[in-house]
Amino acid sequence: MLEPQGFYDAIQAYHLPQSIIDLDQSSQENVPYRIKTAHGFTEAFIVNGVTKQGGSLSPLKCTLTMSMSNRWLEDELHYLPSPLPYHHSLPSDTLASDGSTIQVTPNFNATNFAVVTNGNAFPASISHHGSQTGILQGEAYGIAVTSLLVLHSPLHSNTLYSNHLNSVNFLNSQPQNHLIKNKPARSYYQWILAIWHDAALLNHEISLEHCKAHTSDNNLPATLNRLADHIASHSHLDPLVPSPLPPPTFSMDDFTLYSSSHGFIESNTSQFINNLLSEVASAFVDTYHSPFIPSQLFDTTTPPSYSYLHAFSSFSAVVQLYLHCGQLDTSLSLSCCFSDGSQPWCHFGCHAIEDAYHIFVHCPRFQPHCDSASSSLISSTTTLLDACNLPTTSRQAVLQQANGLFLDADTWPGQKTYYYLGVILHINLEDPKSHTKILGTQLANNWHTLSI
Ligand SMILES: [Zn+2]
Repeated sequence: MLEPQGFYDAIQAYHLPQSIIDLDQSSQENVPYRIKTAHGFTEAFIVNGVTKQGGSLSPLKCTLTMSMSNRWLEDELHYLPSPLPYHHSLPSDTLASDGSTIQVTPNFNATNFAVVTNGNAFPASISHHGSQTGILQGEAYGIAVTSLLVLHSPLHSNTLYSNHLNSVNFLNSQPQNHLIKNKPARSYYQWILAIWHDAALLNHEISLEHCKAHTSDNNLPATLNRLADHIASHSHLDPLVPSPLPPPTFSMDDFTLYSSSHGFIESNTSQFINNLLSEVASAFVDTYHSPFIPSQLFDTTTPPSYSYLHAFSSFSAVVQLYLHCGQLDTSLSLSCCFSDGSQPWCHFGCHAIEDAYHIFVHCPRFQPHCDSASSSLISSTTTLLDACNLPTTSRQAVLQQANGLFLDADTWPGQKTYYYLGVILHINLEDPKSHTKILGTQLANNWHTLSI
């Protein structure tokens, strides 16, 4: 659905009669809508002040709002402060763009792009377009802006360079509607194709060429791309945030999912909804163990596959799976799940709540198992260390870590052991030579197998 104001702004900007606005507003009062679902139509609900895309006026509105947006962008680009911070002496009739995305928080990526043109260059930001905005949208927006620049002030060559092979191939393939229909970032591509169409009508054929990224070549496309890449990636660090540019809503599908917190969701709608649901659901699932600390703090060696893939009983894998999702039958989880008066206390008479941590780390009932695993661990670690000529300090550090693997020792992050969840601590081999790397992997495999 279109924001009506975009259309009214266009009407006013082009000095068209106010009566068009009045007529349009009256057609949007108290409009009953029904949603078609897999189970049939919903009950009707009333919507005010929103234009239905795909209606008879829709193509006209799209054309007007797209041309307004193009004009607005052209003005923005025309009145950029001069000189720009990135003045360069590359030939003035060449254009290039490049996008850059960085992860700012687990749920937010910042996407900027840079355009190099006419002896100047500038970055811009599209991070606010929504949670689906990423490098694809950044690259495509860069191509749209360079195309607009050529549309309004054609150059000698009209050649644009981009290192985004997917976009270059797709746009140059003169895609049919059915190919665009399911393409991610299709509103951006539709917009570019519309600009190219306009340019062709004015005999300014635009050609988009691919250039390889991150090369040290000295040819023109590579040099342009290096500059665009440098500006786009460094713009994330600029204290002055690059200008935000609007999303191309005018070329979106007739119905595009939108929420104020996630922006426009153009593609993979069902996956997006599944992700949202799983986020919401996981917030309600109690795992009955203390919050898991970030995995970067643990050893990153891939666990040995034997006990998970080849052992007859995949008991350890099942226990770990149950533990991670809070489904292991401890007294605590049973008493929380059932309202039958089950008590959370340890089955074996300890004055403690029986959660996985108590069972695997503190309960005296399991101490003999722990002690036996611990002495096997020390003995196999000593054998591995003996085979390797390690400095005494490193050797002692490794043995100290082995000693504390099943205990709340200082060597664990947060002084708390997590061995029962199938993780081990970073093995402290200060000397990262190739033979100690092999030793590190052997130790990690050995410790992992003995902890599970
Ligand atoms: Zn106990």
